[in-house]
Amino acid sequence: MKSKIINEIKLTLPSIPENEAVARGCVSQFVSRADPSVGELADIRCAVSEAVTNCVVHAYKNSVGLIYINARLFDDGRFTVLIADKGCGIPDVSLAMTPLYTTDSKGERSGMGFAIMQTFADKVRVRSKVGAGTRVFMEKRLLRRG
Ligand code: ATP
Ligand code: MG
Repeated sequence: MKSKIINEIKLTLPSIPENEAVARGCVSQFVSRADPSVGELADIRCAVSEAVTNCVVHAYKNSVGLIYINARLFDDGRFTVLIADKGCGIPDVSLAMTPLYTTDSKGERSGMGFAIMQTFADKVRVRSKVGAGTRVFMEKRLLRRG
């Protein structure tokens, strides 16, 4: 049986660093309505934060562009979030997703963002095209409680 969307938000934000907290806060507030556990909420906050930070620091490295977020809750308890940008794109997605891989040369990054997303979400799918942008799709099943 196909699950139905019970709630949805769409956000478009400029890639300024303070919007990492804004995006995390909005998605967190949205998913809170579905009564997630404290751990589930923390996982989602962390995963969203990593994806949005990547848009700010990598996709639009020396510029400011738009970040597109679409979060959904389904009647079977699934939560999904798509975080997309129209930035520089990733030439080799599987290499980029390798733990500790980073293109940062200043030593500020640890190359763990995708690994964190994969730990905290049940499913992570990344599509990217150089010069066109990147789409990170994540899914997490919220355990039915109460
Ligand atoms: P950390 O997340 O630990 O601070 P990091 O951002 O380098 O370090 P990941 O988040 O795992 O590590 O990303 C790995 C690499 O993938 C980045 O160094 C960057 O080259 C590339 N990347 C990730 N997201 C994007 C994006 N949205 N647009 C362009 N490149 C990206
Ligand atoms: Mg990162």
